[in-house]
Parts: sequence; structure tokens; C-alpha cells
Amino acid sequence: MIEKIVIANRGEIALRIQRACRTLGVRTVAVHSEADREAKYVRLADESVCIGPARASDSYLNVPAVISAAEVTDAQAIHPGYGFLSENADFAERVEQSGFIFIGPRAETIRLMGDKISAIKAMKKAGVPCVPGSDGPLPEDEDKILKLAADIGYPVLIKAAAGGGGKGMRVVHTWAALLSSVSLTRAEAKAAFGNDTVYLEKYLDDPRHIEFQVLADTHGNAIHLGERDCSLQRRHQKVVEECPAPGLPEKLRHRIGERCAEACRKIGYRGAGTFEFLYQNGEFYFIEMNTRVQVEHPVTEMVTGVDIVREQILIAAGERLSHRQRDIAWRGHAVECRINAEDPRSFVPSPGRITQYHPPGGPGIRVDTHIYNNYTVPPYYDSMIAKLIAYGETRAVAIARMRIALSEMYIDGIKTNILLHQEIMNDAAFLNGGVNIHYLQKKLGLQS
Ligand code: ADP
Repeated sequence: MIEKIVIANRGEIALRIQRACRTLGVRTVAVHSEADREAKYVRLADESVCIGPARASDSYLNVPAVISAAEVTDAQAIHPGYGFLSENADFAERVEQSGFIFIGPRAETIRLMGDKISAIKAMKKAGVPCVPGSDGPLPEDEDKILKLAADIGYPVLIKAAAGGGGKGMRVVHTWAALLSSVSLTRAEAKAAFGNDTVYLEKYLDDPRHIEFQVLADTHGNAIHLGERDCSLQRRHQKVVEECPAPGLPEKLRHRIGERCAEACRKIGYRGAGTFEFLYQNGEFYFIEMNTRVQVEHPVTEMVTGVDIVREQILIAAGERLSHRQRDIAWRGHAVECRINAEDPRSFVPSPGRITQYHPPGGPGIRVDTHIYNNYTVPPYYDSMIAKLIAYGETRAVAIARMRIALSEMYIDGIKTNILLHQEIMNDAAFLNGGVNIHYLQKKLGLQS
């Protein structure tokens, strides 16, 4: 069994991983930057190691520093959380070469899924439905590019093979704009990801974002935990997530979920993962796989009762999955609001000292956060400071509880997007369920 884990992350997820470790009696090492010295999870950890200055590239992304923290503390495993090094195949490889367990899939799986083109290829082979597209990287030849786009049919979406975080994507509506947009996206992808490979996909105009959570162990077992609807997005970034997806026929859940589990068995997947799909006119289209725990994992935990992070650790320790597919049941409904330190209108980040914090509570409420009274939100990292999750026997009850929780949650000293969430929880179309990925942008008066 694993006795000690290095948590190579920060913020709420560092605390979340720590809690899972504690339920298993596993000791924890918090690695942190100079800016996070005072963080709650650093104090709560059994040990802590400062791995560098505030800038993420000097600390949380500093591979040798993270690995030497594992060495000096005699840990056996490293949990990367989400973001930072979590989907860095070279890091996973270095971790294992240094004699530690990487809590995630094998490096070669991360590499396969990290390149969206090879991921789509592998998924097609495994029988997962994908978006119609160029079936590979765009060639240099301009006539060939124009022909590919014409065959797919406009509008098309140019996507960077190495893209992530909603970056490296461009919609093209007519052939006249295609070639210049390809060059622009290539240049952006090169600058952002060091790789200018791009491909084309049919741009779906009315899709929902529905993703499937999977767990796979090292004994050939894989199960799915059903789906989450993450259609409420701003700039391709999720704002509100829920489980299950409103109105999705149960038959489809089982069919697509089983395809995902089967794909895991076929590629020898290990750990927790998410298959992201667009869902339009009753059809699912795979867009990418995330080979890590996701921000929105709690909504699935609330509805299935499975502790996903605990399972990640057990799988890494070589254990068999704790649940069989037939034991998984979906009961009730859960909604998650991502609380960000930002202006609710302009979305400009609002770091600084939290002078007052009153957490919400009551039946069905879960708050995953590292903030506290007098905590200073550093300006160097992502602006998400808390996740508010509401559970109810029905979607209506979950949303009603979320409304109350939002009204109770009081954060002063910095700006937050709580107001935006309150508007969403009272929005007629959202209440109806099943809005598409463009809905929030339109509501906000922003271009999709
Ligand atoms: P990233 O890795 O940057 O998150 P994804 O491929 O997961 O990129 O896409 C992010 C979001 O972009 C999706 O949730 C969806 O809103 C939008 N998107 C991606 N592919 C398409 C498509 N073919 N048509 C329409 N929207 C898309």
C-alpha cells in the first residue's frame, strides 16, 4: 500500500486530495510555492516542502523540484491533481523513472490523449463516435485544405492538436476566411503549445457538452459513472456543471458510458478519466479525453456516492476497483457552481485579501474550498477559489438549495462571480434544462 503521497498542486484540489488520503490513512506532503506558504492545506498536511517562487513555471511546473520533494520526504507516489503537470506525459514518465507511482494513467496513454488527433483516431478505433472532420493533421497544400473543409461543410472549426483550456480554436464560416484562419491558428498554437499541428472539425451549432466519468484499474476492469452536463461555458471554460444531464435518456447513458468503459479496456487505461462529448440531435460526438481528475468531479460523487479521488489512489496502489458496474446507481441530482475571484460583469480577476468569509451550509450542500477569513488570494494562479455543490432528490430541489447556498455564501474584500451564479440559477432556460454551449455567452451579450 502507498503510505505517503506528494500532492503536486494547490488550492481546493490540494485539500480535496489530502482529504482522500486521510480516509485511507495515507500521509501527505504538500508542495507549495512561496506565495502559498500560508495556505490551509499546507498547514494541514503531514509535511510540506517549498518548491520555488510564486510563478507556476518556477514551482508547480518545476519537475525536478517536485520529484526531489518526493525523494526527500520518502513518499511513494505523486498526485498531480488537475492543471499544472497533470497531463504532462514527460512528467509522468520522469516520476515513474525516479521510482515513484504517478497517480494517473501511463505516460504513453497521456501522450496518446494529449494529442487530440491521435486521441480521436484511437477512439474511432475503439468504437466511440467522433465529430466529422479532417481525420488527421491539415496538410500544407492550400487546395487540399480547401477541399477538406468543403467536404466537411461550413462552418468548420480549426483546432490545435495540442490545444487545451479552450485555447487554439477558431470557427470559420466561409471558404474565403479559411486559409488565413488556418495560418493564424497555427501561429497561435505554436506560441501557446510549441506545436503548430492543426486539424478540422465540423462546427456544431447547437450542441450540449456532456462528458462521461470512467474509472479503470490495472486488472483490466473499467466502469463508467455516468455523465455530467457542462454546457454552461464562457470562452469554452465551464461555469456550472451538473449530474445527470437533464433529459438524457437512461438508455443512452448506458450505451455511451459502456462504450467509454470498453475504450478504456482496449487502450489499457489506468485511473480516473473523462470522455468529453458534444451532444446534438440525440447524437454523441467525442471531442477529447481528460486523463486526470476534473474540477467538476464532485457532482458525480454526490449522485453515485463514489469517492473518485480515493479510487484514484487505490487504483495507483494496484487494487481492484471497489465497485462493479452493476453496483453503480444514479440517485438524485447535483449542481456545481465554480466560484471565481473575478468581477461578475467584466470577468477581470480580483485577487486580494478576503476580509470576511461566511460559508453556506444545510442539507445537500458541499463546499470544496481552501479559503478562510483573512486568506489572501494570490494573483499568480487560476481565479477559481471555491466550488459550491448542491445535491437534491430532484434537479429542482438541488437548484433551490443552490440558490439558498449562494445567498448565504458571503465573501468580502474581493469580487466574486456569486451574482452571476444567482442569475443563472434563476434563468428560465437553465431551469428548463438542456441549454447548449453557446447559451451563457449569448445571455452575457458576448460573441460565441
Ligand atoms: P479544450 O481542450 O481547450 O478544453 P475541447 O476540445 O474540449 O478543448 O473543446 C472545448 C469546448 O469548445 C467544448 O466544450 C465546446 O464548447 C467547444 N467545441 C469544441 N469542439 C467543438 C465543435 N466541433 N463544434 C462546436 N463547439 C466545439
